[in-house]
Amino acid sequence: MEKTFLIKPMLDEIYPVIDYGKGVYLFDRNGKKYLDAASGAVTANIGHGVAEIVEAMMEQAKKVSFVYRSQFTSEAAEKLAAKIAEWTPGELNWCFFVNSGSEATETAMKMAIQHWQERGNQTKTKILSRWVSYHGITMGALSMSGHPSRRARFIPLLEDFPAINPPYCYRCPYNLEAPSCNYLCAKELETAIKRIGPDQIAAFIAEPVIGAAGGAISPPKDYFKQIKMICEEYDILFIADEVMTGFGRTGTMLACEQWGVVPDIVALGKGMGAGYAPIAAAVASEKVMEPILAGSKSVMSGHTLSANPQSCAVSLAVLEYLEKNDIMKEVDNKGVYLKYQLEKLKPQFNFIGDIRGKGLLLGIEFVADPITKQPFPRKLSVTQKIIEHAKDKGLLIYPAGSGIDGVNGDAVIISPPLTITKREIEELVFLLKGTFTVFSDEINTGMDGEN
Ligand code: PMP
Repeated sequence: MEKTFLIKPMLDEIYPVIDYGKGVYLFDRNGKKYLDAASGAVTANIGHGVAEIVEAMMEQAKKVSFVYRSQFTSEAAEKLAAKIAEWTPGELNWCFFVNSGSEATETAMKMAIQHWQERGNQTKTKILSRWVSYHGITMGALSMSGHPSRRARFIPLLEDFPAINPPYCYRCPYNLEAPSCNYLCAKELETAIKRIGPDQIAAFIAEPVIGAAGGAISPPKDYFKQIKMICEEYDILFIADEVMTGFGRTGTMLACEQWGVVPDIVALGKGMGAGYAPIAAAVASEKVMEPILAGSKSVMSGHTLSANPQSCAVSLAVLEYLEKNDIMKEVDNKGVYLKYQLEKLKPQFNFIGDIRGKGLLLGIEFVADPITKQPFPRKLSVTQKIIEHAKDKGLLIYPAGSGIDGVNGDAVIISPPLTITKREIEELVFLLKGTFTVFSDEINTGMDGEN
């Protein structure tokens, strides 16, 4: 009898087998073409099948693929660290390489706690965060993520870190508008710090543009300036989780630069390896590292494959590719054009509630009623349906968002490779329009027996 693997029945029925990728497209083994506007939300920053990256990977493999990181470093890791220090603002000069975004935020959290310990403060161990946030799937990262549906199964988590409201202007909890709102959601940070006590808090972590948990929620202009001021006033480190936004997604190396803010620690991931290798990093400032270097001398973290030379060579090649082709320069224009095209869909489909985001990290929130902004009930799985219709049409978009209550609410992220052309943007919007038409027909004929 032929042996069947457990996963086999799923193949082709649920998950098409991808054969190869080129530019913004993926091709499955049946020859179907998909325009990749998801890329695991923004991983394939420079598109698929870029020969330079493959060559860099092979060159490094010919030299050495692994060195034991506790005793050695490699040219690739050193060059990459220097390049990241050069490309990031301020004094973000110390890179600690890991393999995934979750490991990067975990490491950032540990760096922050260790920073205070080395300064003789043993009680500053809590990390404040925001609701509607996602910082990773490991238990530590999940504990500081305000993503209720991903947390639910694992509550009480490791530590129930306190969270504040996000700058979710479409559903402002105060029913106000920026800037006349006086950034009350940022001021919540100060209230939380006073309530808990600054001597208990190591850091505040936030995504510059909220990704998986919210669907590209971009803050109003002075939000992060206020956040940074509050952190400085109460001696709390600011960690920017740029796993999704870093490496040029909004047109600058870090999205924080869009608002003139330099974090104390940055978590980088996805775009770093651009999908060609697993690599991520926690990057710390001189201020954060000074007491660590003077004390224990190293960050108390690390994995067997941290700073793997082959992954570092890939990431270095990605940065050089971005540099050589001046790719970040065009991101803002492309993002504006894509948003403009998406806006044109709004009057045609009344379930489009909000179109938002920054650079080429855009999101659409879907609502049952555009006037009241009432979300669709969770049981209708609207996001999932739209993602599936898009896939049928040959378009990949990323599911996100569970609304302000973390339960109801639907959104998708639209984040094509930064190399997308104008014609491909138009094709993307054409495919999305087809997707929405199918979904609209589905609503009008009554989904799951409901209208
Ligand atoms: N932080 C953010 C902002 C993310 O978007 C993600 C992934 N969606 C992570 C952390 C976790 O990264 P990874 O899946 O590589 O562990």
